[in-house]
Parts: sequence; structure tokens; C-alpha cells
Amino acid sequence: MKLRISGDKLTIASAHMLTRHDKCARLHGHNYQVEVEIEGELDESNMIIDFSIFKSKVGEILVKLDHKILLPQKSEDLNIEMDEKQVIITTCDGRRYRFPKADVELLPLESTTVELLSKYIHDLIKEEYPQFKITIEIAETPTCKVIYSGN
Ligand SMILES: [Zn+2]
Repeated sequence: MKLRISGDKLTIASAHMLTRHDKCARLHGHNYQVEVEIEGELDESNMIIDFSIFKSKVGEILVKLDHKILLPQKSEDLNIEMDEKQVIITTCDGRRYRFPKADVELLPLESTTVELLSKYIHDLIKEEYPQFKITIEIAETPTCKVIYSGN
């Protein structure tokens, strides 16, 4: 049986840039609408999971990305320098940004495409709930959505 959560509390606003992309190399943002589906057996309470607890747990994962500038730590196209208060980025095409450290979320990714963000968020949820098959859908725009299913 499957259970799906969605809604305003699973919508996050984040900024990012995609190096080597014509338009998306410039810093810009999205309202990412996240939906999460889990598939599993019913427990002794005849539920797959208590969905309010599940929704809270997913919200805890997403809030770390909300109203943040998402930077891919493993990108070979970004030089990332940090001191106590700020993060300084130089891109492969010479753009230079300076952000307050508190505004930035460094992610262990090569890029912050919605595809890699989907897998990243999926894997964090899967760590909490290894017993379920988890599918994540993230709409980056009203007409473009990525769907990722793990095992
Ligand atoms: Zn974008």
C-alpha cells in the first residue's frame, strides 16, 4: 500500500545556479514543490505510518534547504572559500559571489540540478525509513517535475 504527502509545508524556496548552463548559470531561485510517497505493509495499527509524524520528519529535512542558497560542494566548476562569517564562490566562468555563511547550505553534490536534489532528499528520507520504498517528486516549475524512486 502507498501513502503520499504533499502541500505547502513541503514547499521550499531556494536559490541555486547551474554552471555551464546558458541561462541557469546566473543565480536564481525556485519554489520547489516536494511530494513524497512511501510504500509498505500495514502495521498493527493498520497504518503504513503515522503520516503526521512522517510529514514532520520530511519537513525537518526540507527546512535545512528552505530560504537558502544551495551550493554543490563537489562541483569542479566552483571554487568555494569560507571563513567564519562568509562563503565566497568563484565560478568556472569568473562570476564571483559573497554570501553570509548562514544563508548558504553546502550540499555533498556535483550540481544542484533538481535531479540530484531529488536523489539527495530521497536518500536522507530513506536513512530514516529504510523499511519503505520511497518515491520523491519535486516540481521545480509548474510544468517541470522530477520523479525519483529508490529501491
Ligand atoms: Zn534553477
